[in-house]
Amino acid sequence: MLFRELVDTYERLEATSSRLEMTEILAEAFRRFDPAEIRMAVYLTQGQLYPDFVPLKLGMADKLALKAIAFASGAGEPLVQELMRKEGDPGLVAYIVFQSKKQTTLFSEPLTLKRAYETLEAIARAEGGGSQEHKVKLLAKLLSDASPSEAKFLSRVITGRMRLGVSTMTIVDALAVAFASKEDRDAVERAFNVSSDLGLVAETLALHGLEGVKGIRVQVNRPLRAMLAERMSSPEEILERMGGRCAFEYKYDGVRLQAHICDGEVRLFSRKLDELTAQFPDVVAGLKRAVHARSAIVEGECVPVDTNTGEFLPFQEVSHRRGRKYGVHEAVEDYPVKLFLFDCILKDGEDLTDKPFLERRAALTSIVVPDETVALSEIRLLSSPAEVQAFFQEAIRDGCEGLMAKSVAENSVYRAGNRGFLWIKYKKEYRSEMTDTVDLVVVGAFAGRGKRRGLYGALLMATYDPATDTFQTVSKLGSGFDDATLAALPEMLANDRLAARHHLVDSKMEADFWFQPRLVLEVRGAEITLSPIHTCCFGAIRPDAGLAIRFPRFTGRFREDKEGRDATTSQEILAMYQAQLKRVE
Ligand code: ATP
Repeated sequence: MLFRELVDTYERLEATSSRLEMTEILAEAFRRFDPAEIRMAVYLTQGQLYPDFVPLKLGMADKLALKAIAFASGAGEPLVQELMRKEGDPGLVAYIVFQSKKQTTLFSEPLTLKRAYETLEAIARAEGGGSQEHKVKLLAKLLSDASPSEAKFLSRVITGRMRLGVSTMTIVDALAVAFASKEDRDAVERAFNVSSDLGLVAETLALHGLEGVKGIRVQVNRPLRAMLAERMSSPEEILERMGGRCAFEYKYDGVRLQAHICDGEVRLFSRKLDELTAQFPDVVAGLKRAVHARSAIVEGECVPVDTNTGEFLPFQEVSHRRGRKYGVHEAVEDYPVKLFLFDCILKDGEDLTDKPFLERRAALTSIVVPDETVALSEIRLLSSPAEVQAFFQEAIRDGCEGLMAKSVAENSVYRAGNRGFLWIKYKKEYRSEMTDTVDLVVVGAFAGRGKRRGLYGALLMATYDPATDTFQTVSKLGSGFDDATLAALPEMLANDRLAARHHLVDSKMEADFWFQPRLVLEVRGAEITLSPIHTCCFGAIRPDAGLAIRFPRFTGRFREDKEGRDATTSQEILAMYQAQLKRVE
């Protein structure tokens, strides 16, 4: 398949911001693509080479990519750098310089998708002494055989800036339309949620149709997307929703881990599917001791503990363990953790995602022998608000955040990648005067004044609305930042800078800077109010107003484990607003 076919599709996608049109363009393209190569096409459309859980990532430094562009086009580095300062996008730079080159040179043979993909792969894999030059050479060679449009997208994808505005769920829609029907979308999404691999889903659909995709099951060493919870603010509401009786568990405040165990080997994955095995050797050893099964996928929350008192420590302590390459051994001693297991997704090769919760819990209990590093979550089956309230108090006393209610109905399956009412969180903040913290995504920023001149004065923060796949503004955030963080923000957001508002951002405000909605910050607010200028749940309470968070403060916690679409949803803010009203009444 020619790379040009994919690039033509990208050009068409770039020209629209309608999700429906994007779906149609992609579906039409997927039907035309060679099934044997569709996997590569899907990963590249996602701006990557592999599924999320494979650590090898694209993301060549701009400097190197520009060098390759200058070399391949013969434009010279000073011109390329000047264009970069002006355009801020290596893709556009490449397009411009290759456009002018086009008139003087003839193309060699057309670029195939396979060659483009394999060269990008070789660039991503190159490491060690001399690898930087090698990367530049490989890219320059590829670019010199590319058309201006091909060079544009190659330069974007290699620098981690694909940004077609196509969400994963749009690709899911398009795959369903291309190879089955709109009505079969849920089956396609399920296959993605249990495999976390859109390339695999696309290839299976293209080669074996819907039946093939229905056969995609959970597999050890291939993390699945986490099941998520809704929130509610009283035991009465929760019990009513759950049919009068359900399981309640302690809600531990730490880091969620998905452990894959196979023939004595253990691998750990984060909620975002990053591999964390190397950061938690103590948990790996603990699981090897505690879990007795040939193969298993178990899930739990990893909490920092004070080994002297046995008490839990603030979750921030676990962050000392994440992202570490060196000093892991010291960190294990300085920041000990304990894993509380709460689900069993696979046992001895059997996929348990379709089993009701209590069966999965029984499977978990049958394979785990708890010890000081690995334990089972505290659990009780309750049916009266008074019992729930008492259990909630015990959870708080023991240093937990609150309770997780879990449906025990026949249909209480493990819904990978879904947020729903099969699990409901009930947190302590609802009981106090303060509102809960929320996780908001940065979509824009305002230029600083006075002491903050040259930096960002405030950030424009948004919630996510899954119903419309948009980001809705909810707050202008300026407090809670220390000087070092303030100074670091422009750099942290540099790669997310956009020339204009992102098309999925719904804002009535004009920010000075706009960003790709990616960076998620934990924010504590004093209250939620109605606001005519914010778009979160606009019209839900009053036709001319949205919801806003008043007196927001950054808690200091960057939610690196979350992506833009994992931010607190607009609907959650609405539920919090309603809960807050009830308390006032
Ligand atoms: P979310 O995961 O819902 O997007 P979040 O990461 O901000 O939001 P919370 O809203 O505090 O987390 O609650 C959900 C998280 O609670 C789960 O993702 C999991 O990491 C954690 N958790 C702690 N104890 C349990 C438990 N017993 N069962 C399930 N999840 C638990």
